[in-house]
Amino acid sequence: MDRNLAIQAISDRSTVWDCLVIGGGATGLGTAVEAASRGLRTVLVEKTDFAKGTSSRATKLAHGGVRYLEQGNISLVREALHERGLMLKNAPHLAHPLNFVIPAFRLWEIPFYGIGLGIYDLLSGKLSLGRSKMLSPSETIKKLPTVEQSRLRGGISYFDGHFDEARLATTLALTVSDLGGVVVNYVEVAGFTKKNDKVSGVNPSR
Ligand SMILES: Cc1cc2nc3c(=O)[nH]c(=O)nc-3n(C[C@H](O)[C@H](O)[C@H](O)COP(=O)(O)OP(=O)(O)OC[C@H]3O[C@@H](n4cnc5c(N)ncnc54)[C@H](O)[C@@H]3O)c2cc1C
Repeated sequence: MDRNLAIQAISDRSTVWDCLVIGGGATGLGTAVEAASRGLRTVLVEKTDFAKGTSSRATKLAHGGVRYLEQGNISLVREALHERGLMLKNAPHLAHPLNFVIPAFRLWEIPFYGIGLGIYDLLSGKLSLGRSKMLSPSETIKKLPTVEQSRLRGGISYFDGHFDEARLATTLALTVSDLGGVVVNYVEVAGFTKKNDKVSGVNPSR
């Protein structure tokens, strides 16, 4: 990935691009990989550094959206768990399983979260990151030594994924380049050019 060559490529006004992606966060980089891998002439421009926006401020969890399970959105959770599994399978050096423990201070919380997270496990199928487990108070304290102990009834242990967003972003940018696309940072789209009332290009500012 050579920045000078990339600048040269985007400066050539005669080049016709099939796909222009504005913004090199998680969404833009992923979109550019998809476009370039389908053989589209792809260019991505990012006004600061790759993934410097919202993508660097996230919790970096590759999760199946456990809160959507509570809302009954099973198909969304199933799809997100599948994507989570693929991410950990395809990039084990960038994403890994992370163990969470929910402490329970009321007895009903143990079966409530236990059954919910059991369903979460089942929905992940073969791409499960590890089974969830109901914990006794002493097992919960072992995992969470600073937990409030006086009212503790137990806990639930479950797994989700955690990823390195900076390295993932860099890897996606390199992948776009390997696929023949152009990615360039510190180039801002300042406006659009139009032909016959339709957007035909952009005005970059550097
Ligand atoms: C507190 C918090 C926690 C989160 N936790 C998680 C989590 O654990 N797991 C998860 O999956 N998601 C999480 N998210 C959601 C996730 O961070 C976002 O969905 C994701 O980062 C959005 O990426 P993006 O590429 O759409 O946006 P951004 O990362 O903001 O990227 C947009 C990019 O566009 C660039 N840009 C803007 N205008 C221009 C222009 N004119 N020219 C060129 N470039 C431009 C910006 O510089 C920026 O880099 C969290 C979000 C927040 C706020």
